Amino acid sequence: MLKGKTTLITGASRGIGKGIAEAFAKNGSNIAFTYASSVEKAKAFEAELTAKYGIKAIGYQSNAADFNAAQALADQVTADFGTIDVLINNAGITRDTLLMRMSEDQWDEVMDTNLKSAFNLTKACLKVFLKNKAGSIINMTSIVGITGNAGQANYAASKAGLIGFTKSVAKELGSRNVRCNAIAPGFIETEMTAELKEEVRTAWIDTIPLKRGGTTEDVANLCLFLASDMSTYITGQTINICGGMVM
Ligand code: NAP
Repeated sequence: MLKGKTTLITGASRGIGKGIAEAFAKNGSNIAFTYASSVEKAKAFEAELTAKYGIKAIGYQSNAADFNAAQALADQVTADFGTIDVLINNAGITRDTLLMRMSEDQWDEVMDTNLKSAFNLTKACLKVFLKNKAGSIINMTSIVGITGNAGQANYAASKAGLIGFTKSVAKELGSRNVRCNAIAPGFIETEMTAELKEEVRTAWIDTIPLKRGGTTEDVANLCLFLASDMSTYITGQTINICGGMVM
């Protein structure tokens, strides 16, 4: 589905980002991915993608929350791969606590990593997309950005912000054939959700009509669709992938 394309994915050393990178490589895309601190995991993954799928894969240690680092990353990726066709703003963190206890640092860290990062990377890749007169941007939001969640005021605000950002970018860049969509996962089985207590996990799964957590592959399949020519008339949308938890 993506033969010969180049995809830049933030935060793909593990979890959902890693699942997306694997699915995209399997479908012929070259992969530029970033990570914050998992150097060993990233090196191993880079080698695995190249060996298994015969595509070009490079991992970059780059803080998505840093404006200048994002620009430097986009320039480096363009130099290494020749172009960027798909950008997936996936990197994200949680710093959960009730508002009463939430520190300014916990708020800022989440907003910078989850929301400012999408501004940083989208702006940094803009030149390439405009030159190509094509591009697909996918922002990883969350159903919590739609519903809100106690203990996640910072996270929910950052994810709701991503939805507004997605719609605005879609309106600004539609005439240039650059599409921008958001994906809102519900409960996906990753290290992020593995941190939850068993009773919290069970309570979440009880609320899901399909009675299971999602897999990284479930999310990757939706990304594949939004990145590919199967979705050329879809932009500005937020698509929930949550087993029916939010309708
Ligand atoms: P995860 O397993 O915790 O992985 C997070 C990834 O982001 C890692 O590769 C991490 O790199 C990277 N990262 C963290 N901070 C970064 C930064 N400042 N710059 C660059 N990379 C950074 O998370 P996940 O569960 O896969 O979640 C991925 C995305 O989906 C997030 O945006 C999350 O909010 C969203 N989401 C997840 C769920 C879920 O149920 N899991 C549900 C809804 C939405 P290191 O390995 O180096 O730390």
